[in-house]
Amino acid sequence: MAWPTSNTGAGSRTTLTDLRSRPVTELPGVGPRIEAALGDLGIVSLADMISHYPSRHEDLSNVKRISDLRVGERATVVGRVVSTRPVGKPVRGRAPGFSVQLYDGTGYLPTTVWGRGWLLNQLLPDVRVVVSGEVQRRYGIQLVARSIEVIDEEDGTPGPHAGRFVPVYPVNRGIQARRMRTLIHRALDAAGRVLDPLPAEVLLRHGLPSLHDAIHEVHFPTERSRLKAAMRRLIFHELFLMQTGLAARKARLERTTVGDRHAGDGNLLNPYLKGLSFALTAAQERVIGEVLADMRSEKPMRRLLQGDVGSGKTVVAVAALLTAVESGGQGAIMAPTEVLAEQHYLSISGALAELPVNVVLLTGSQSASERRAALGAIESGEAHLVIGTHALIQKGVEFHDLSLVVVDEQHRFGVSQRTLFKEKGRVRPDTLVLTATPIPRTLSLTLYGDLEVSIIDELPPGRKPVQTRIVDLAERHEAYEEVRKELGAGRQAYVICPLVEESEALEDVRAAEELYEELDREIFPERRVGLLHGRMKAADKREVMASFRAGATEVLVSTVVVEVGVDVPNASAIVIEGAERFGLSQLHQLRGRVCRGLHPPKCYLVADPRTEDSEQRLEAISRYQDGFKLSEVDLAIRGEGTLFGSRQSGMPDLKVAQLLRDLDVLVEARREAFTLVAKDPTLKNPDHRPLRREIRELLGANVEWLFRE
Ligand code: ADP
Ligand code: MG
Repeated sequence: MAWPTSNTGAGSRTTLTDLRSRPVTELPGVGPRIEAALGDLGIVSLADMISHYPSRHEDLSNVKRISDLRVGERATVVGRVVSTRPVGKPVRGRAPGFSVQLYDGTGYLPTTVWGRGWLLNQLLPDVRVVVSGEVQRRYGIQLVARSIEVIDEEDGTPGPHAGRFVPVYPVNRGIQARRMRTLIHRALDAAGRVLDPLPAEVLLRHGLPSLHDAIHEVHFPTERSRLKAAMRRLIFHELFLMQTGLAARKARLERTTVGDRHAGDGNLLNPYLKGLSFALTAAQERVIGEVLADMRSEKPMRRLLQGDVGSGKTVVAVAALLTAVESGGQGAIMAPTEVLAEQHYLSISGALAELPVNVVLLTGSQSASERRAALGAIESGEAHLVIGTHALIQKGVEFHDLSLVVVDEQHRFGVSQRTLFKEKGRVRPDTLVLTATPIPRTLSLTLYGDLEVSIIDELPPGRKPVQTRIVDLAERHEAYEEVRKELGAGRQAYVICPLVEESEALEDVRAAEELYEELDREIFPERRVGLLHGRMKAADKREVMASFRAGATEVLVSTVVVEVGVDVPNASAIVIEGAERFGLSQLHQLRGRVCRGLHPPKCYLVADPRTEDSEQRLEAISRYQDGFKLSEVDLAIRGEGTLFGSRQSGMPDLKVAQLLRDLDVLVEARREAFTLVAKDPTLKNPDHRPLRREIRELLGANVEWLFRE
């Protein structure tokens, strides 16, 4: 495909790096006021300016004549302003707006615009605008605008009506669409020919236009097919850079580290597997095979194990840990909460009681003498398996010969923590990361793009779907009547308190205590009710969990501390109070507490949904059992911005790509990136230097080491 080059500034050539160092104030018309307004939008340099892409394009070929509008449809109309008037009173909590009367030669259209009052001084009579929104009936028809933009030309900037597509920009009070377009035009002129950091052959293979052409087309579209190709190019661009970064990181680790070549002979693993009270599922067998093969090789293992709540990931972890011990090393498993660490300690040391394996627990709340003993055993190598919380990666913990690290329920940790073990031990310990599935496939390709992935896609036989019911706040006693029946049949139940901050603030603890009192005194006076929250002393928590596990406590009132991993098979019902406030993956994890027994499990979501999002979440959780499905729904509800918003992910923010929508591009970009890095791991080929520089600038100083030989 031939892409005619744009004729603007054809003489000079610039790199994005250059453009990043040139301030917007260089452009004519950018004084302190505009500079500040641009700054609010995150636009500081010429590079920011030209990559301030439209949030979407309005297709003017679909413009309707006012006389053809139908009530109920969504439509785009181009017309001239006849008059405007403010709409005085806020309606139902919305900001006041204004009404603008439009005329397009076929009829008049009253148009309501909410908010955006600052547009009023631009909407003078006879100014041409494009509006789109919903046609409603109101004394005839009116349009409720979703977007409105002035489209008249100004001093030589190609107007949007030159083509059929009007770019719609993210703007704010201080800078309006028309000005934005003028400034972008000037910035593109000033920039000249922008050099492309992506290798030409990659672009050719995928029929993608150059960066320069794509940027021009997106801001000043000429025709539909080109605009589409330009968008695709920008999406590919982002994803390719990200994937190349991941590929380089993986290559770097593989080239510079050696792992332990585990040579277990099965003297611990075989008796452990034989002693299990159940047969492994085919998926567990397969995944254990994948993990052990990695451990045997000299390459350090970096593997993510995904498996839905209750799919039996712990057995896989123990198999790996025993293999480490058989080979003369030590194994460690890090859990996100003390409750879970304790549970792993109890169940794993129980399962290994007959085997010559020393299991040691290390948590932050142990007494000084317990801690000293644990640390001593870890350092001398007397401790074969170490189970703990974050305490494992704190200063003062010295392993004798750590050769395998299992990180359980990874999604509760920041991504960065999974690498913290690397300095311990002589060789890099193999790493196995376990996670239940709030990670859709798209994300595991990105956040975890440098890990191998194993998936347990099968639940142990006989698991029954959890009957999930949404219960109105006013009818919450009905949920407790159902629970009473379960208790009568000898089973146990969890009651989860309304959402508690991660920190478990004091007022939340008070709310938990109140709920406990109510259940203990009024609702289930005849039953033994226990309370568990994050602020309790470790010994008290241990006691409460032990009593619940033993069946002595029949109802456990708890904050989200039981969210992950807790496994009490006799518990068959869970009531979640204030369910509208929980995230979807949290609800799924909580519900997972009751899917492990033989009895048909029940989940009651006591809820008072007030937002559309919480309604959608509740609807999804009552409809789907599958964690993969739920995580995709979750991503769709929350939007992806939130996932990459935090810098802790170590990922550049995505500006144009959307992982769910652009999965096909992601897969292509990933393949190209990994192929490229396989051929040129440090990107030292002169053709790849611009790419290397771009990745470095995007990912920041923390990837400096990526390309070191
Ligand atoms: P998760 O993947 O959520 O960590 P666990 O490893 O805690 O799940 O396992 C959940 C429950 O299922 C445990 O009680 C465990 O003993 C049981 N389990 C694991 N594998 C099997 C199997 N193959 N057949 C029957 N029960 C199993
Ligand atoms: Mg688990």
